[in-house]
Amino acid sequence: MRYGIISDVHSNLVALRAVLAELRGRSLDKFVCPGDIVGYGPRPNECVELVRELEPVAVIGNHDVAAIESGTEDWFNAVARAAAIWTRQELSAANREYLRSLQPVLIFDEVTMVHGALAPDLWDYISSPWEARPTFEAMKTQLCFIGHSHYAEWYELGPGAVVPMQVGATSGHQLQFAEGVRYIVNAGSVGQPRDGDPRAACAVYDTDEGTIEVFRVPYDIAECQEDMLAKGLPVPLAQRLALGV
Ligand code: ZN
Repeated sequence: MRYGIISDVHSNLVALRAVLAELRGRSLDKFVCPGDIVGYGPRPNECVELVRELEPVAVIGNHDVAAIESGTEDWFNAVARAAAIWTRQELSAANREYLRSLQPVLIFDEVTMVHGALAPDLWDYISSPWEARPTFEAMKTQLCFIGHSHYAEWYELGPGAVVPMQVGATSGHQLQFAEGVRYIVNAGSVGQPRDGDPRAACAVYDTDEGTIEVFRVPYDIAECQEDMLAKGLPVPLAQRLALGV
């Protein structure tokens, strides 16, 4: 099986289309989505609809929760909160239902998938080896796919310590899984990368080869920014797209 991984789309339709065009020629069998289809960006309905059409294996992200349950945005910063409230008003009933149908954790094809972390809390960030450790202890599979930090990176746990590997700007970087080693993999963010590379991120997981290949895809950032400002979304959210932070 070859899976296309699209995470943290964040209502960025321009980036999502660019990523799907990049992945189209890569003979995929299925898509997976580690959460946050909406939030921040200007096209929540179009993004949910496009993702739904792909029929991905998907889990819910914290911004997806904030878009369907009022009060859950309270712990966001001011700009994220404003975007969450706007998104909630925009979403169609059918798209809200779709987000509501997503589970927080699931296991498929020997992979555990969660948006943030398996432990100690589902919405924790894994951005360091010590933050990765509780999830390594909780996972029952060799691989765990996450999103949430918007960094394209992975962590390895072999016989020794947890080793962090940040792939960030490297497109075409391939991870070959080794026997006896477990991995937490973040394919990066489609719609709001924060690892210093503003290009959209996505990946291909090949179960036969035992590999993950990360791709960075340029897209028309200005088009998305103009759309955000036209919708009245906070200016800093548009600005950060160009910086990849
Ligand atoms: Zn996110």
